Amino acid sequence: MLDLESLFKLSYGMCIVSSKKGNRFNGCIVNTVFQLVPEPPMVAMSLNIQSLTHEYIADSRVFTVSILSQETPMPFIGRFGFRSGRDIDKFEQVNYKIGQTGVPIVLDSTVAFLEAEVARSIDVVTHTLFIAKIVACETLDGDKQPMTYAYYRDIKQGRTPKTAATYIKIKPKTQGEEGVRNMKKYKCLMCGYIYDPDVGDPENDVEAGTAFEDLPDDWVCPECGAGKDEFEPIED
Ligand code: FE
Repeated sequence: MLDLESLFKLSYGMCIVSSKKGNRFNGCIVNTVFQLVPEPPMVAMSLNIQSLTHEYIADSRVFTVSILSQETPMPFIGRFGFRSGRDIDKFEQVNYKIGQTGVPIVLDSTVAFLEAEVARSIDVVTHTLFIAKIVACETLDGDKQPMTYAYYRDIKQGRTPKTAATYIKIKPKTQGEEGVRNMKKYKCLMCGYIYDPDVGDPENDVEAGTAFEDLPDDWVCPECGAGKDEFEPIED
């Protein structure tokens, strides 16, 4: 038996991992950071080799981890988790400071952060396991609870991109009858944005009166950039 949904019972924390290459910064959502040994304090972190943040860490050998609070807004997670730094500058609209490693530390929604220097990296099929020594760490807001992956999925109804280390394919929910056009509203599961066919998406040249099914395949959530697969109809 290989019931992969059992893996949702493992506990993880939601973080932003950031790095640099030259004078450019990038970061992404990661839920696979864990402490490896106490002395010297070291962490491990798994990251998809195709991600831009991976390219930056492979270059600079340093990264920071911002541990996110339960109150982190979903569009914020969507921006860091579902958009690529190849398309947008993720640091344009966030508060951050530069740490001693020269890497930005995201401060918005952060309960604690750490800075790490890569000691070893191990190829693991589609991902790299980075093993790194902690060179600095600090709690910024001791009153807020960190967001676990289970909280993100179950309470915030968040989803996971296919590139994530903990992505698990789940059986799709049954859709409406094929060919039947309904004019239901659809909700982005990443950020909560609601597509209303009566309004359309005028900023992206989608006229009012366009059913969700008729949106182009490459249409993305105007709030967080998630694709059409990440939307579900809302029952009125
Ligand atoms: Fe969205």
